[in-house]
Amino acid sequence: MQINNLSETPSILNTFMSELRDKTVQKDSMRFRRNIERIGEIIGYELSKSLQFETHSIETPLGNSETVLHQSDIVLCSILRAGVPLHNGLLNYFDAAENAFISAYRQHKNNPESFEIIVEYLACPNLDGKILILADPMLATGQSMVATFEALKPFGTPKEIHLVSVIGAQQGVDYVSKAFRADTKLWIATIDEKLNDKGYIIPGLGDAGDLAFGNKLQQ
Ligand code: URA
Repeated sequence: MQINNLSETPSILNTFMSELRDKTVQKDSMRFRRNIERIGEIIGYELSKSLQFETHSIETPLGNSETVLHQSDIVLCSILRAGVPLHNGLLNYFDAAENAFISAYRQHKNNPESFEIIVEYLACPNLDGKILILADPMLATGQSMVATFEALKPFGTPKEIHLVSVIGAQQGVDYVSKAFRADTKLWIATIDEKLNDKGYIIPGLGDAGDLAFGNKLQQ
C-alpha cells in the first residue's frame, strides 16, 4: 500500500489538526466539523494529483485554453456518523462523485476491551471500474475500513481504491496495509503512536462522532 502521510510536510493542515485535538477548542462542534471538512478538502486536492487527466480545450471569451482535467468516475463512501464531515470535504472538490454510505459500529459484548464491528445500513451505486474513496476520520484498529470494504464487494470491483483518514494509529495503518490489495493508496493527515485498551487513538482527539454531532446514549 502507498501511504501518503500529509503531516510529513508542515502546512496549514497542522493548524486544523491542532484545533481538532485541543480539548478546549474541539468543544465548538461547528468548528470541529468544519476542520474535519477542511482536512477532507486538502486531502481531496492531494489525492486528485494521483488521478488520470485528459486534455480539453476550453473556449474563453477571447480564445481557447488547453487544459488537462480529471476524467474519473469517483464513488465516495463514508462510514456513519463521524465520516459525514470528511465526506462533505471530499465532495466539495469532487463535484460529480457518486456517493455510498454505510453504518458500522463497535458492539461490545461482556468485555469492554473487545468488540466486533457490526455493519447495518448500506446504500451504494455500482463500483465496477470506478475509483472508490473510502473515508473514515479515525483509523483506529482498521477493522471498520476492512468490514466496510467487505460489505461493498457485492457492488462491483473498483479500478482504484483510496482510503482517506484524518488520524490513524500505527496499528490500524499496519492492519489496512495487509488487508487491502497492494495498489491501494492511503491518504492520511497524521499517524499517532498507539491505541489504548478501549481502542481509542493516543494521543488522538477523543470520540470524533460525539465531538461532531453530540454525545450518544449507548456506549
Ligand atoms: N473512533 C474515534 O472517534 N476515536 C478514536 O480514537 C478511535 C475511534
